[in-house]
Parts: sequence; structure tokens; C-alpha cells
Amino acid sequence: MSNLIEIKVPDIGGHDNVDIIEVFVKVGDTVAVEESLIALETDKATMEVPSTHAGVVKEVKVAVGGKVSEGSLLVILEVAATATATPAPSSAAPAPALQAAPVAGSHSGAADYECEMVVLGGGPGGYSAAFRAADLGMKTIVVERFSKLGGVCLNVGCIPSKALLHNAAVIDEVKHLAANGIKFGEPEIDIDALRGFKEKVIGKLTTGLAGMAKARKVEFVRGIARFIDPHHMEVQITSGDGKEVTGETKIIKFQKAIIAAGSSVFKLPFVPNDPRVVDSTGALELKSVPKRMLILGGGIIGLEMGTVYSTLGARLDVVEMLDGLMQGADRDLVKVWEKWNSHRFDNIMLKTKTVALEAKEDGIWATFEGENAPKEPQCYDLVLHATGRVPNGGKVGAENAGVIVTDRGFIPVDNQMRTNVPHIFAIGDLVGQPMLAHKAVHEAHVAAENAADHKAFFDARVIPGVAYTDPEVAWVGVTEDEAKKNGINYGKGVFPWAASGRAIANGRDEGFTKLIFDQDTKQIIGGAIVGPHAGDMIGEICLAIEMGCDAVDIGKTIHPHPTMGESIGMAAEVFKGVCTDLPPQKKK
Ligand code: FAD
Repeated sequence: MSNLIEIKVPDIGGHDNVDIIEVFVKVGDTVAVEESLIALETDKATMEVPSTHAGVVKEVKVAVGGKVSEGSLLVILEVAATATATPAPSSAAPAPALQAAPVAGSHSGAADYECEMVVLGGGPGGYSAAFRAADLGMKTIVVERFSKLGGVCLNVGCIPSKALLHNAAVIDEVKHLAANGIKFGEPEIDIDALRGFKEKVIGKLTTGLAGMAKARKVEFVRGIARFIDPHHMEVQITSGDGKEVTGETKIIKFQKAIIAAGSSVFKLPFVPNDPRVVDSTGALELKSVPKRMLILGGGIIGLEMGTVYSTLGARLDVVEMLDGLMQGADRDLVKVWEKWNSHRFDNIMLKTKTVALEAKEDGIWATFEGENAPKEPQCYDLVLHATGRVPNGGKVGAENAGVIVTDRGFIPVDNQMRTNVPHIFAIGDLVGQPMLAHKAVHEAHVAAENAADHKAFFDARVIPGVAYTDPEVAWVGVTEDEAKKNGINYGKGVFPWAASGRAIANGRDEGFTKLIFDQDTKQIIGGAIVGPHAGDMIGEICLAIEMGCDAVDIGKTIHPHPTMGESIGMAAEVFKGVCTDLPPQKKK
């Protein structure tokens, strides 16, 4: 059910016939409470008129150049009948349908801590938000159930996986040197020492974070937090590995809050409780190297961990319900990765489902169904289930604060990272896809700045994705497959690394760099790279998209020679038909 309501100009200090200098909304936009609708200019000042309600803009009654006075009609808004004073979720939120706000709780007892800002969760989103809020002068507390800041990314995600992948890449690279006349013996792998190296990397970073928190006077409260009303949070103090509750409880009274509780592994219902079946956290523990390993789910996390285990000696099978591995990236990139990595796999089972896992003495027996399913169950020494992650939005008592949480556990936010409760913000994995650390950090800064009464928006055009496999696969913006599917009038420039002096010198010329341009505006709208260190190079393409560059801007930027970065400039030249590092191109 929805209502149409009129949003009018409020009291603007007695001014009449004031000039409209900007209109921020158009029909179809979703606006939040307090979101600016128009900007006005008198001879003394400019001011913005905020929306009194959340909803979807149905009609805009004013235009730039017009004049308004108190009571003038600005927009007609469609609002949820039961949630008229709550902001609608933004495009960042996964479920934009208006939803009734829950009835908030009320706490009248004493508090152990008082602060201007409390951040729930100490992952990359949470600690970045806390640090930014403190830098902007807010008395800040961060609550985290584990003893260290860093969240999934630093402790059991991005960083430990890259520490292991780095070692795997060096082992693989050394093997390739045999073709150049440099031979080493088989590597001797001390798995305990390798695990120790990974732990040292994590320790260095988390210690650094603790120091930075201290330097900013951000108070760390260790425990499991739950909202009990819109201004109070209860924390069950934890010890040990983070799951042990000491029995002690603390109450935090806060003026503003940022929810950054992240996500958890999605576990299929038939996954047995057996140490030979692990999620990514278990795989990162690197307890032993199996002979035969099944990766359940052909996404980035599974393939990265598979790369590590395979280099250390495991034979891999991968099972994926969809028709390709590494969904999201263009198929031509994935093809290059597949060719380079086919030696790791005994079976790549696409369009196939795992329907049962049975723990027996000799191993974990997996039964499959689908186009490429083996007829008989298969036995594995280790099964990694990597079938995705689910948001933790439903696990923090958000409803007690009146905050809307979707059925799937996401917390809808507007483009200032504000939930339907204006003083409570949410960021990171629990506000929507893509679940990536760099998105969480960007959102964290937006949320903290708005909480500190600055004006900030999440208005990034693109968010890059990277598979840190070997070769790496990186992409950003519109992919070619998407452009085709959506009928976009696009053109592309592709530079094959087989024509790059540096790639040939590195003995790694299997990759390519591809740029996608809008044929109408000639601006870059996407790009992708497959090859070693693709992830380190994709940032230049992100910047080009954010800056609205065209092929001339990119092609005429002097890139250092000989580098793989040159391939981005050359791909732009290919699009223009002016590349001299390839055979003559057909005239356009
Ligand atoms: P999290 O990092 O999940 O942090 C949330 C924190 O909140 C956790 O520390 C948790 O303990 C705490 N918490 C939750 N509930 C409570 C509560 N009630 N009380 C107190 N504390 C609570 N992303 C990339 O960008 N690049 C990569 O290379 C990459 N690699 C990855 C590899 C793996 C194996 C995995 C699993 C993930 C990877 N990711 C990567 C994703 C990345 O880790 C997440 O996107 C990122 O950590 C999300 O940050 P966040 O702050 O939203 O949440």
C-alpha cells in the first residue's frame, strides 16, 4: 500500500519569490528523509530544502530558474502507507521496496559508556568508519566480538588469502623458469612455517590497526553487540576466540551509530560437521594438503583457495551450478585463465549440483546431479564449500532501534548510507553487493562524514572486481557481455599481451587488456584485464571511468615503457585505430 503526498516549501525566513538554482531529484528517484530536493538562492544566502518524507518521486513541480515561496508545491512523493516518515533504501540497498519500520525498543536504565558515535563491527568498513568519525572530532567507540580489529578481510579473507597466493605464485613462477634454462628442485614445503608466515602478516596489520585506533582515541569494546533501542546498545563481553561470552554485559549510550557487522559464510543444509569439510576460514587454516580436493562453488573465493592448494600439491575438482566459472567477468577473460589453469583440475563440473556430502572413514563422498555429474559418488580428502556469503543485518537487534532489515538480512540505506532511522547508518557487506572490502571502506567514509554533519554521498560510478588467481582477472564498469546483452552501442579496444615487449620478457604473454567505450559519447564505460598483476592495473581504468575519459585521453597519456600498464594506453589506441604496436588496423 502506498500514499501520494505533497512536499512543499517550509518556512524560509519570510523570503518570497526565491530563485531555484538547482533541482536535485527527478521522477522515479528514491529519496530519504532529510535528502535535499532543491537549492534556493536569496540575495543573502543559498539554502537546500530537504524532503520531510521518504519515498519515490512521482512528479516534480518546479524547475531551475523558477521561483518559490513558503508553501509552494515542490514534488509529489509516493510513500509507504505504514512508513511515511522513513527514508527509502537507495540503489545501494538490495531490496528497494518500501517496508514498514519495526517498532523500536526503549531503554531507561543507566549506561556504562557514552559516546557520540558507536560503530558495530571492526572490519574494514567498521574501523575505517570509526577512524574517520574520530578524525572528524567525534567521541567514538568501536564494538567487535573478536580481540582484534580487521574483520573478515584482515583476519580470514583478503589478506591471509593473498599471503598464501603470493607464495603459490612464486612457486609456480619458479617452475616456469625451467623453460629459460634455470632449474630448481622440487620445493620443500613446511606447511607450519607457511601458516606462520600468514599469521605474521595478519599480526603486523592488526597490530598496526590497534595502534591507529589508540592514536585516535577510538575506544575498543570487545563483545557481541545488539541494539536495545535507537540510542542504546547492549554488549555481551567476549573472551578467547570470540565465541566465548564472559557473562559480563555493558550498555553503550550513543548519539549516532554505524552498523558494520559484515557477512557470514552461506552453508548448504547438507554440509556435514566434519573437519574435512571447510569454508574459506577453515581452508585458510591450512592444516594439511589433501590429495583430492573438491571446490563447491566456482566463484572467486573458491578458485583463489583452489590455486593455493593445487600449487601445494592437491588435485582439484570444481562443481558449479551455473554454466561458467568466475561469474561476472567476461567469458573471453575466463577462457585465458582456464587455459593456463587446466593442469590443476581433474574435473570442472559446470551446470552441476552437489546434492549430498557424506563423511566416511576414507573421505568425504560427494553425490552430484546435472549435465556434467559423474555417475558415481566421488571421494575427497577435503571439501571447500564456497557458495557465497550472507549479510549479518538480521543478527544485531536492528529492529530494536527501529531499523529496517530485509528478509535476506540486508539493511537498506540511502546514498548517504543512512538507514530509515536518520541517526543510524549502515555500511559494508550488509548493505548489498558487491561484498568487497574497498566498497565497505568507501561507504564507511561517506557514513562517518554524514554522521559528523558533513555532506557526503556514495556516488562512485564503478566498483572494480578482481580474482587474485594466476593469471589475475580484473574488471570494472560495463563488461562486454553485459553491453551485448543490454544492447549498448559500444566499441572496444583490445591489446593482446602477445604484442607487449614486457609481457614477452616476463614469459607471461597469455593475457590481454580490453577497454569498452560508449560509441555515442566516445567515453570509456568499462575495462578488463587478464594477466599477472591485472588487479594492480585496473585502478587506472577505474579512474578513467570516474573522470569520464575518452580514448584520446587514455591513449595520449604517456605510460612508462616497458610496463604492462602500457597495455591500457595501447588498448585505447586500438579503439582509435592508431596503435603502432600491432599490425596495421583497418581504417574506421
Ligand atoms: P567484515 O569484514 O565482515 O567485518 C564485520 C565485523 O563485525 C567482524 O569482525 C565481526 O566479528 C563483527 N561483528 C559482527 N557482528 C557483531 C556483533 N553483533 N557484535 C560485535 N561484532 C560483530 N574483498 C576484497 O575487496 N578483496 C579481496 O581480495 C577479498 N578476498 C576475500 C577472501 C575471502 C576468503 C573472503 C571470505 C572474503 C574476501 N573479501 C575480499 C571480502 C571482504 O573480506 C569483505 O567484503 C569485507 O571484509 C567486508 O567488510 P565489512 O566491514 O562489511 O565486514
